[in-house]
Amino acid sequence: MSSMNPTTPTLDVLVIGAGQAGLAMGYHLKQTGLRFLIVDAHARVGDSWRKRFDSLVLFTPRAYSALPGLPVPGDPEGYPTKDEIGDYLESYARHFQLPVAPGTGIDRLEQVDGEFRTTTRDGRVITSWTVVLATGAFQEPAIPALAQQIADGAVQLTPKTYRNPAQTPAGTVLVVGDGATGRQIARELSETHQVLLAAGRPRRVSPSRILGKNIFWWMDKLGVLRASHDSAVGRYLKRADPFPGKDLELSRLRERGVNVVGRLTEAAGQTVSFASGETIGIDVVIWATGYRDRTEWVAIPALKDARGAFIQQRGISPVPGLTFIGRNWQWTRGSALVTGVGADASYVAQHLARSIGDARSTGASESRRHHGSDVVTAQTASADSD
Ligand SMILES: Cc1cc2nc3c(=O)[nH]c(=O)nc-3n(C[C@H](O)[C@H](O)[C@H](O)COP(=O)(O)OP(=O)(O)OC[C@H]3O[C@@H](n4cnc5c(N)ncnc54)[C@H](O)[C@@H]3O)c2cc1C
Repeated sequence: MSSMNPTTPTLDVLVIGAGQAGLAMGYHLKQTGLRFLIVDAHARVGDSWRKRFDSLVLFTPRAYSALPGLPVPGDPEGYPTKDEIGDYLESYARHFQLPVAPGTGIDRLEQVDGEFRTTTRDGRVITSWTVVLATGAFQEPAIPALAQQIADGAVQLTPKTYRNPAQTPAGTVLVVGDGATGRQIARELSETHQVLLAAGRPRRVSPSRILGKNIFWWMDKLGVLRASHDSAVGRYLKRADPFPGKDLELSRLRERGVNVVGRLTEAAGQTVSFASGETIGIDVVIWATGYRDRTEWVAIPALKDARGAFIQQRGISPVPGLTFIGRNWQWTRGSALVTGVGADASYVAQHLARSIGDARSTGASESRRHHGSDVVTAQTASADSD
């Protein structure tokens, strides 16, 4: 692929990550005429979905699991499987001929002489005037320090390493974390295993349908999905963090034999204790305790706060030319959902087009102007690599 050669022209935009967020970005960037490339560490577009646990079915129906310009095939009221969405994303990249370079993990991002310089895992260099980080809001499982107190005899998994009940060792399984994922895993393991579910703060579970319509239909029609994080509705949603599916109510899980215990407070060897005072022996722990970002490969200090977390506001970072897409609550509840990421991508693409345009019109170098004219060639050439 020509743009991976260090001697080729600097790209206008490098998008890192070809999940739904990177692809939505590609859809909108294509309309700006900017010269861009989308790179991803995975071998195939859609792999971030395919690699999730076997039984995962989206909580958003097909009608609300689509990116701009291409519906998800099948019953719009039905719920797609994770592989179906993986394949949909792959077909999306192909349909819009997005310039995607799979199998291109980025190990380092830095700024050198006013350009962004990225180094791939196999040592190649890509330069760009701007960058979009589309690396996912739910990247790495966040595992509490308590995990270190658990003896080697117990198997420890995360939603990233858990596959299915058959591959889960026999015995008592403790699922820590009762968000949608923790509850789904506890529910399916209850068929085959003794299951404890350590619940944290109370969570709201909403019905999937109200008055014959899907909950996402209502959220869309009432504008809830588009409420910004600082609006009254947004603040409420962030606090309550509800998820749909009444079969995931704790009372329903108890009926299926899941032992819902309180917060996990201590672990020693294969014995765990809870805020309720209960102490129980376990064989397997599944940490469904949330996610964290990988940020260490980004060598741009101004992009991170004192704790090392990325800084951005509606996708725009304090570093000119460096933007984000797909952050949780980047702007709305929809920002980290398939259905909502397109609106944010449009905003970020317009911001980039404006800032590149401004830089060029206010005396940017001749070489930048020259590179801008390569748009079509680069996109067509790279689209073949998908
Ligand atoms: C268990 C679970 C269930 C979910 N269910 C739903 C649902 O039902 N409906 C819904 O709308 N949303 C759902 N989401 C939320 C969200 O839609 C998904 O997390 C989605 O995968 C986010 O897309 P993304 O493109 O932002 O990130 P990802 O899908 O994580 O894609 C990021 C991509 O960036 C690449 N990448 C990362 N770092 C690098 C690097 N350094 N170099 C190169 N490439 C890199 C990765 O390989 C990856 O392909 C769910 C999330 C989870 C975790």
